[in-house]
Amino acid sequence: MKVSLWLLLGLAALLGACTPGGVAPTSPPSSTQPQVAVTFFDVGESGDGILVATWEEKYMLIDGGRRNSGVVGALQALQVPRIDVLVATNPDADHIGGLIDVLKTVPVGEVWLSGDTNTTITFEDFLDAVSASQAEVHAARQEDVIRLGSLSAQVVNPSEPLFQSRNDNSVALRLEFGQVSFLFTGDMEAKAEGRLVQSGVNLRATILKLGHHGSRTSTSAPFLAAVQPEVAVYQAGADNRYGHPHPETLALLAAAGVPVYGTGRNGVIVITTDGAGYRIETER
Ligand SMILES: [Zn+2]
Repeated sequence: MKVSLWLLLGLAALLGACTPGGVAPTSPPSSTQPQVAVTFFDVGESGDGILVATWEEKYMLIDGGRRNSGVVGALQALQVPRIDVLVATNPDADHIGGLIDVLKTVPVGEVWLSGDTNTTITFEDFLDAVSASQAEVHAARQEDVIRLGSLSAQVVNPSEPLFQSRNDNSVALRLEFGQVSFLFTGDMEAKAEGRLVQSGVNLRATILKLGHHGSRTSTSAPFLAAVQPEVAVYQAGADNRYGHPHPETLALLAAAGVPVYGTGRNGVIVITTDGAGYRIETER
């Protein structure tokens, strides 16, 4: 089956979205025209689920929300035939739950993990699904490079020695495409952020996926100053029981003049880029 990147690029239109600051594409882009679409799924409650789709029809899935997140259905609706790279940023249910069914229904090339563990049935089921999938498994460490066709993502976190906290050991990736870059942070919190700032690793990014669903325990001021994002995105369901995103985080971003998009408020968020500029489309 021919995969249509256009389906992804037009996802917002597909969902009957309004399109602030742009018009949904009406014709498929040429396959020779490099474009990347990053979709932040609305996986409900607190949870992450992000699809990176490239013009070369390469796909990276970063987290899958909880077991009933609907990510498998979304991938099917988008006619995604395989996941070349699957990243589980941390072993908590709101990141790996939905990946279990992905691993059972979609061919997966590589799996990248933090290497940290959990004691839950969900984590056991996830590991079983990873091993049954026969995907190549890697523990991500700072300076590792994850290839996605012509693109590559730099692992910025974790580094040795690991922290006590599963959140701080989250896999964080910096994906650069031309002049536009994304920093995906999982549930990384202030401790790991501090180590990253100290390490001098390149954190600058056009788009920052806020750590830990916009919690006040992430996005510390020095980290935000190092990233200098133009746009921030959080993933947390509307009226979630954790109060994500926290007002302190939103206030910090407002003071820095960074506009914030979130799945709780905006539904599905799709950011498309040709490496020079970018466009943000939202479900609502
Ligand atoms: Zn989480």
